[in-house]
Order: sequence, then structure tokens, then C-alpha cells
Amino acid sequence: MGKNNITSLTLIGTIKGLKQKDFSEEELNNAYFERIAKLNPKLNSFLEIKKNSCGIPAAIKDIICTQGIKTTAGSRILSNFIPPYNAIVIQRLLENGISVIGKTNCDEFAMGGSGENSSFGPTKNPWDLNKVTGGSSSGSAAAVAADLCAFALGSDTGGSIRQPASLCGVVGLKPTYGRVSRYGLIAMASSLDTIGPVTKSVEDAALVLDWISGGDGYDSNCHPERSEGYKHIFFAGAQNDKLIKGLKVGVPKEYFGEGLNPKVKQVIEDAIKKLEEQGAEIVEVSLPNSKYALAAYYIIVPSEISANMARFDGIRYGSARVDFGPEVKRRIMLGTYTLSSGYYEEYYAKAAKVRTLVKQDFNKAFDPPAGGVDVIVGPVSPTTAWNLGEKVDDPLTMYLSDIYTISANLAGIPGLSIPCGFSEGLPVGLQILGKQWDEETILRVGYAYEQSTEWHKEKPKI
Ligand code: GLN
Repeated sequence: MGKNNITSLTLIGTIKGLKQKDFSEEELNNAYFERIAKLNPKLNSFLEIKKNSCGIPAAIKDIICTQGIKTTAGSRILSNFIPPYNAIVIQRLLENGISVIGKTNCDEFAMGGSGENSSFGPTKNPWDLNKVTGGSSSGSAAAVAADLCAFALGSDTGGSIRQPASLCGVVGLKPTYGRVSRYGLIAMASSLDTIGPVTKSVEDAALVLDWISGGDGYDSNCHPERSEGYKHIFFAGAQNDKLIKGLKVGVPKEYFGEGLNPKVKQVIEDAIKKLEEQGAEIVEVSLPNSKYALAAYYIIVPSEISANMARFDGIRYGSARVDFGPEVKRRIMLGTYTLSSGYYEEYYAKAAKVRTLVKQDFNKAFDPPAGGVDVIVGPVSPTTAWNLGEKVDDPLTMYLSDIYTISANLAGIPGLSIPCGFSEGLPVGLQILGKQWDEETILRVGYAYEQSTEWHKEKPKI
């Protein structure tokens, strides 16, 4: 097997190839190292590369602690931080024969939606080097899209797995809040943070989720149960017609209004038609409070950030708070204000109530006695990847690109982004949202769609 063929394999394909002895672990790693050496200078996807690794190579967002390997969270503040322990997700991957091939670039402390807030320079989109990758898991999405790893891990607080996956044409899964342990994830907004896979196929995402899910005793919000998404897809996939026939797929009317690029809209509508052809019943649903979700998110998140960032006080990690980038400073200031006495009721308490309303919207749409739907589908991002530098000086415009992803974090439900077409040569992602703890159904729908299309096989010419 040629070297390019090895690196273009999915994770499942890689596991099969190793089993059949088509190639050795050493050949596999060498093929990836060569490709990283060639392409990383163009993409700035990896901040750190771990030579001599052996096993199936995974790229890990640099906000997840890796024992003995520098973990910066994309911040100058942590530029010399070498964690003395592994995050639980890393322990789980190691137990499954996976190795960390490198740590990927990200917006500073995961605050951002373009990959440009990293202290170490922006990540470039493999489909067009003048475009952003999306963020904050910018390097993980670019690394998977450019075949620099078999799969990657990212983190998603308001869309940071799904949105860069969408803009880079790969699969990204944000699990239910509490499905995966946050132990060893450097905190951004603790009531919304989730870790999840970025992969080359839906099956791969299901497998990685099964590996990393389930409690560990260190994250008290984490459910003890492991996910069995992969097993279910595998069995359902054997009887293809069972994957999606008769499922009710909700389309929220609020996700197709003003602000959605017409070409992206067309691609999404075509994808929904495809689901209908496969036997899904398409139903219009309403999420009336989604128009308040963005405002509530940008109060709750900075509030939690102001508390979490307090530990970087210049004493423990050896660098000064002046080293924080502008977005981090902005959020610390905003959050300190929204939590301060006299303003707390007006801002934080109100936003927390809106959060409940957003959650209730989903509960209603999914409620079986009310004829509820099994999944909800729509766009991930209102546009395809935009030009580097285009929105960096305009935070409010940048925040608007999160409009379709943040609600899932506020409600704690799972969401999947899968490649569903292109607009002017740039990838578009379809978002599939599910009930709390029901990753299985969104993975099934994603898998069914993937089986009947070829979008996920398209590769950037880089
Ligand atoms: N773009 C969003 C933000 O800046 C999401 C970030 C994330 O999910 N980590 O807050």
C-alpha cells in the first residue's frame, strides 16, 4: 500500500489494515510524520509533534492535558506547561492502542470561532489556505481534513468541534454534556465544556466516543455508563433499511431565516431531501427561544470564564496576566461585570433563565407524547469558511457565526456535524442534534446519510 493511501484511511480502515498486516505501526507512523513535515508548515495545525510515537496516531487539541507533553491551551500563559498527568480521555485512548502524534493549535483557552485567537498564529484551512478553519478546535479539524492523523480530539463549549469540522469538511461529534469526563480538560465554561472526536467518518466518531465515554470518579458531572454507539451502528448498518426508515427528522424554521447564506441553505435543503428519500419523515419544528440563545450564551460563558481564569494569577504557572490575548481579557472583564453585585440579577440570573427556556424548546420538540421528533437537522454554520482576518476586529460579527451551535451546549444535548456538500469549493456541514444521551440516533442518521453520499470521501488538494 502506498504512503498516501495509508494516511487517507479512516480509523476503522487503519485498524483493519494493521490487523491484516497490510502495513506495520511503524510504517503507519512514518507515513503520517512525513505528511506532517510536508504540510504542517503550510497549515500551522500542530503546535507540538511527538516523534517516536507508536500505535494509531491521534491528534489532540492542545487544551487536553497530556503527561510529559507540553499543553498550552493555545496561550502564551501556558507556553511552558508540561502536565504531570493525562486527561481521562487520553488514558482511555492509550488503553485502546492509540498514540498521541501531536498537539493541535486552538483559539486561546478555546475562546473563539475561527482559530485566529491562538497565541501561536492562526491555523489555515486545507481547502483554501487564505480561509479560516473555524474554531476553536482549528488544528484538530485541519489535521483530520489534511490526513495528518487517523483522527483527532477537540472540545466543544459553543460549537468548537462541530463548526471547524463543518468548515473543513470532516465529521465532528459533540457528545451529551456529562458523557465524557472533563478531567484533564483545561476549563473554559465548565457547565458547557465537552470533549469529542473529529474524524474522517461517522463510524469512526462512534468508535472513538465508545472509547472515551463513561465516568471516572474525577468529574462529578460525568455519567458512569459507557456509550455503545459504534456497536449499534454496526448492527443496524448490517440491515441498512433499519437505519433511518420511519425516523422523524425535525427541521427548525428558526434555523433557515435571515443570516443563512442562500448557497449554504440550498446545500442543507438538498441534504434534508436525501434523508427523506431514505425513508425519514421530515417535520417542521419550532425552537422559539433560539433567538435569545446567543445573548444568553455570551453572558453565561464569560461569567464562567471569569471564574475559571482566576487560577492563572501569575503565581502558579509562572506567567503574567498581561500575557492573555485580547479575547480572553474581554471575556474576563465581561464575566466579572455580569457576576458583580447589582448586575448579577440583570445579567447572569436572566441568562440562566433563558438557558432553561432554550432547553425546554428542545424537550418539547423531542417529546414523544406530543408527536416529537427523533433528531433535529439544520446548518452548522451560516456561511462557509471566511477569509483570514475578515472578522478578527469585530467580535460581535464573529460571535454571530455560533448562532446554530450554541443552543446544543446550553441544553446539554449531543450534536454531530457531517460533510454534506460544497459551496464555491468550500465544505458545508449538516448538523444533526439529538436527545440527551441519545448519541446513537444522531450517529445512525449521520451514518445512513454518509452511506448514500460521497461527500466525506472528497479530499482537499494540498
Ligand atoms: N465560538 C464559541 C466561543 O467563542 C465556541 C467556543 C467553544 O466551543 N470552545 O465561545
